[in-house]
Amino acid sequence: MTTPGKLIVLTGPSGVGKGTIVRELLARHDQLFLSISATTRQPRTGEVDGKDYFFKSRAEFEAMIAAKELLEWAEYAGNYYGTPLPPVAAQTTQGNSVLLEIEVVGANSVKHIFPDALRIFILPPSFEVLEKRLQGRGTDSEEVIAKRLTRAKEELELSEEFDYQIVNDDLEAAIAEIEAAIF
Ligand code: 5GP
Repeated sequence: MTTPGKLIVLTGPSGVGKGTIVRELLARHDQLFLSISATTRQPRTGEVDGKDYFFKSRAEFEAMIAAKELLEWAEYAGNYYGTPLPPVAAQTTQGNSVLLEIEVVGANSVKHIFPDALRIFILPPSFEVLEKRLQGRGTDSEEVIAKRLTRAKEELELSEEFDYQIVNDDLEAAIAEIEAAIF
C-alpha cells in the first residue's frame, strides 16, 4: 500500500511572499503538487481559469459549499476562496504531497479534516515591509490594499496557532527553513 502523501499548508498575510515561495518549492521538488483554489474574485490580467484559480460566481461557489466539495473555505476582502477536496484527496492517497497556499482562517480550519497537515505561517520582517510590498506589486487598488492590511493585522495575531513560524526576510533562508520542516 502507498503511504499517504503529506498535506502542507502555507499561510500568512497577503503580500508576505507566499506565491514566490510556492513557485520555488514546486520548481525544486517534483513530488510536490499545488492545489488550485476556487475563488469568486475577478481574474487579474494574465491569470488563467483552471491554472491560477477556478474562477466562480458566488452562486457556483455557494453550491460547492453546500455539496461539501471544499476541504476549507473562507471569505477574504469581499470574496470567497476555497480548496476543492477531490484533487487533494486523490493526490495524497497516491502518496504525493500537496501544497495549499491559503489565507489564515482557512488554514487554521484544515486541522479539523487533516489533523496531520503540516501548517506553516510565513511572517513579514515587519508590518512596514508588508505595506510596502503590497503597494509595490501594483496588482490591487488602494481600497483593496487597505482591506488586505486591516486583515493582515488580525492574521498576524494568529501566527502562534501554527506548527512553524518562518520569517520571509531572505527568500533562500525562508525556503531552506520550509524544506527542513517538510522533508
Ligand atoms: P489573492 O486574491 O491575492 O490571489 O488571494 C488572497 C488571499 O486568499 C491570499 O492570502 C491567498 O493565499 C488566499 N487564498 C487563495 N486560495 C485560497 C483558498 O483556497 N482558501 C483560502 N482559505 N484562502 C485562499
